[in-house]
Amino acid sequence: MTLTQRSPWMDEDLDAFRDLARTFCEKELSPHTERWIENKQVDRELWHKAGEVGLLCLSIPEEYGGGGGTFAHETVLIEEQARAGDGGWGVALHNGIVAHYVLAYGTEEQKHAWLPKLASGEWVGAIAMTEPGTGSDLQNIKTRAIRDGDEYVVNGSKTFITNGGQCDFVIVVAKTDPTKGAEGTSLIIVESERAGFRRGRVLDKIGLKAQDTAELFFDDVRVPAANLLGSAEGQGFVQLMQQLPQERLIIGVTSVIAMELALRETLRYTKEREAFGRPVFSFQNTKFTLAEVATEARVARVFLDDCIAKHLRGELDIPTVAMLKWWTSDRAMKAIDECLQLFGGYGYMSEYPIARMFTDQRVQRIYGGTNEIMKEIISRTL
Ligand SMILES: Cc1cc2nc3c(=O)[nH]c(=O)nc-3n(C[C@H](O)[C@H](O)[C@H](O)COP(=O)(O)OP(=O)(O)OC[C@H]3O[C@@H](n4cnc5c(N)ncnc54)[C@H](O)[C@@H]3O)c2cc1C
Repeated sequence: MTLTQRSPWMDEDLDAFRDLARTFCEKELSPHTERWIENKQVDRELWHKAGEVGLLCLSIPEEYGGGGGTFAHETVLIEEQARAGDGGWGVALHNGIVAHYVLAYGTEEQKHAWLPKLASGEWVGAIAMTEPGTGSDLQNIKTRAIRDGDEYVVNGSKTFITNGGQCDFVIVVAKTDPTKGAEGTSLIIVESERAGFRRGRVLDKIGLKAQDTAELFFDDVRVPAANLLGSAEGQGFVQLMQQLPQERLIIGVTSVIAMELALRETLRYTKEREAFGRPVFSFQNTKFTLAEVATEARVARVFLDDCIAKHLRGELDIPTVAMLKWWTSDRAMKAIDECLQLFGGYGYMSEYPIARMFTDQRVQRIYGGTNEIMKEIISRTL
């Protein structure tokens, strides 16, 4: 029996792409991970290198500078990044989330102007929804983008923004009509070079330490009216609701691969490490624990594959992906915790991959909509 099974959506083209992604991640990510953790960010140059080999905007059509692939290509890259032991590079957000807002809602002019720069690595993308005062309750955001002639004036602040330290292109969730809730919300593009845009410090986190999660401030930032994403105000909330499933699917991918890698690492370690004159693996507790983790990883993979296949057909619904997001992120956390225990004290040492997996995985239950919000979404359909 192999530990992991081949996903039914894989094909020869994706096998070849996996080779490319693996080579890139082994060469360009693994050797630098420790330094990036120290620096709290990846090298800016990494984005250009990835753009050159065609790893940015993988699932964006070629006419906009993208790779012309599908979500399956994005999945393969996320998996290879995890295999290379990197949790810093915010490429899944750049490729799978930011670029897709532009593709789905941008006018032709916007798509031609913005996507090629995201695809080449000239621009790093971010999306800024969360504010210091509100995260889950997005209707309650305070950031405003008020129309003034042929410009919008943006005021407010955002926090916990992935790629915040390096971003050049930010999709800002703002109220264009502060008298309204969801219907007054729009998505406004702010380029980092605009006057009045300021980054706060890169935040200290318990995990994902090489990721430049940051605060962003907008003080009377003036952007052209053409920076409204799409052609009508008040569409922001609907746009968010339509795109969040792909974000949650990405969290499912990250969680399932983390479970599989934790299992692999722990099998390797427990078969080598000895206690009482025998391999740690030989104790019944170890074997049973890992049998359970292997089972849960398999079940999670089958559910994930089903969601990916549905998404590739355009049939993935919001409650199903909410199930995937909460369940895989929750089970992966438990599995990694069980695996870490089998490493003894070494499992608590930062240089061991299992320790890093433990701290990196924790946030998957929080962002992309908390797991409590996922259960709210599911329960509404019951
Ligand atoms: C590393 C990291 C990266 C992030 N990246 C981004 C990013 O790129 N862009 C971005 O916009 N945001 C980002 N976030 C923010 C993230 O999406 C929010 O932290 C998350 O949505 C929760 O919002 P909050 O922190 O304000 O918590 P709150 O909304 O204050 O929630 C606090 C607690 O209350 C619970 N709760 C809230 N409402 C309900 C309810 N109705 N029913 C039951 N329980 C409820 C929550 O589940 C949670 O347990 C990131 C966060 C982290 C930690």
